[in-house]
Amino acid sequence: MSRLVVVSNRVAPIEEGQPTAGGLAAGVMDALRQHGGIWFGWSGDVRQEEVPPNPARTSGPITLFTTDLSQRDYDDYYRGFSNGTLWPVLHYQTSLMRFDWGEFAGYRRVNALFARCLMQLIKPDDMIWAHDFHLLGLADALRTAGAENRMGLFMHTPFPAPSVFSTIPAHAELIRAMCQYDLVGFQTESDRHAFTDYLTRQSGGQMLENGAVSCFGRVVRTGVYPIGIDVTEVRAQAEAERNQTEAQSLRAGLLGKSLIMSVERLDYSKGLRQRFGAYERFLAHHAEWRRKVIYLQVAPPSRTDIEAYRAIRKELEGEAGRINGRFAELDWVPLFYLNRSFARPALMPLYASARVGLVTPLRDGMNLVAKEYAAAQDPEDPGVLVLSQFAGAAREMETALLVNPYDEQGMAQALAQALAMPLEERKERHAAMIAVMREHSLERWRDRFEADLRAH
Ligand code: UDP
Repeated sequence: MSRLVVVSNRVAPIEEGQPTAGGLAAGVMDALRQHGGIWFGWSGDVRQEEVPPNPARTSGPITLFTTDLSQRDYDDYYRGFSNGTLWPVLHYQTSLMRFDWGEFAGYRRVNALFARCLMQLIKPDDMIWAHDFHLLGLADALRTAGAENRMGLFMHTPFPAPSVFSTIPAHAELIRAMCQYDLVGFQTESDRHAFTDYLTRQSGGQMLENGAVSCFGRVVRTGVYPIGIDVTEVRAQAEAERNQTEAQSLRAGLLGKSLIMSVERLDYSKGLRQRFGAYERFLAHHAEWRRKVIYLQVAPPSRTDIEAYRAIRKELEGEAGRINGRFAELDWVPLFYLNRSFARPALMPLYASARVGLVTPLRDGMNLVAKEYAAAQDPEDPGVLVLSQFAGAAREMETALLVNPYDEQGMAQALAQALAMPLEERKERHAAMIAVMREHSLERWRDRFEADLRAH
């Protein structure tokens, strides 16, 4: 069987026994362990000068290769085009997008750098699986360098409607480059549809059978592969003694109050401002819940060298202080706002302590926190997931309380409904979500994508 070569912006640590960072890492690591293979990406280190790739590291059948980035490459490719242009547009936040042709050239330059490094590593029958929006141009760069391998791309983020994607001045070049992949996978049908819609309307593409499109003289296949989590592992982590220290402090602080909990990177796409607004309305209009409820928001800062992220952080600090100032009593603080991260396993018992999981991104490719929250619950007394209709997870988790993250009144009502929901209804909704998550597992995501990429 041909080797699997995984390429992603960052490479996860592979030390045995270490918990993996997230869905991508856990999923691809298992695939690489099964058949052996290579994982290539940026080391996370930035140097003033260009430097050669780092020496390989191996762990069992997995070989890890990384390269550092020069300061210029980091600024143009990572901070500039990937996070300053692509990320906001892919999440429909076009007003936060900034564009610079020099940064776009840097994005192409780093995709070409990755391709040059890979050309030293790959064999003709290796199968290349690239991940996410940093690498839209990798297949194009590899083909320019002469590679004829089978290549697939999985988009972890949403793919927006063509009119939104077209706000990127370099949209046509990006789409042409994406068509150099043999298979492009998406989290939901609407993301896949937006991509094929662009191809047929704006690039002269022709729809073929089974989601394939003929475009730019090649055939690019498309598919939907919702990423999953390991439901059994999450529930076990929620119960595990070694994860309990922080959960015990949390429960001690609750003193019997109901907990509403949210967790995400501090990112403008996650809908934090609107959510704070919804909680304020909830407290204003449901006085019966004051002193009986606490909202815990975990929001570790991310991408702090980008202005839009500094701005949202400042705004939320102000809002958290204002809401607490408005409602707090000597014996009750309504909102706990934590700008710190937790190890992933330590989050699971915290989720299990929360009566409500409040997950309301303005847009999200999938949103793994929604799935983790549901999987961590005690099936005999589960909490309620309040979920944005614009998270990819909403396509599968139909028995969550689905809300529009722009509708603060609707979210406030959903909070009241969730907190008052009878046990039988909670159990029914939860069981239905678990059944879907078990079916759409992490293994299935990986195996289906891999099988479709192998099939030709
Ligand atoms: N996470 C974590 N520690 C934190 C906050 C988040 O380990 O302090 C994890 C979380 O459990 C989830 C992932 O980070 O697995 C976030 O994935 P998601 O799809 O929700 O959002 P993304 O950050 O990829 O946009």
